[in-house]
Amino acid sequence: MNIEQESVVALTYDLYTNENGEEKFVEQATEENPLVFLYGVGMMLPKFEENLQDLSVGDTYDFELTAGDAYGEKDENAIAELPIDMFQGNDLPEVGSILPLQDNQGHQFQARVTGVTEISVTVDLNHPMAGQDLHFKGKILEVRKATADELAHGHAHGVDGHSGH
Ligand SMILES: [Zn+2]
Repeated sequence: MNIEQESVVALTYDLYTNENGEEKFVEQATEENPLVFLYGVGMMLPKFEENLQDLSVGDTYDFELTAGDAYGEKDENAIAELPIDMFQGNDLPEVGSILPLQDNQGHQFQARVTGVTEISVTVDLNHPMAGQDLHFKGKILEVRKATADELAHGHAHGVDGHSGH
């Protein structure tokens, strides 16, 4: 079958970022350890899914997403200063390290430390891949209909559909 709404898809990918014409390898999913996901429920970047539509097992793909279609342009204002008191009793983070934070609705997110002074720690709240074009290439390994359980849970249960939850 071809990839359509409510398919479960297993695929390999190589992901490269492209910033000012320079490609950098980021990560991959291999045939031994593929990415398995429920298509069309908003778990993936919409433009990523759009580029895979109608492909079937054995097809290869190779496409680029602009930053705007991926994780967005970099927001130069997405910078926050955290009071040094927040770190009392803990070691101060180093510039370049990633801080796991939580907003007041309980959403977890990661911030990259860009500066540390005596009174505050400055963090960049942009997604690490903001401002970068993404280049994906890979192969479709499996396409099948989602099971009722998968549709109820809103996620894929592995290549065979039997993860047991
Ligand atoms: Zn589940």
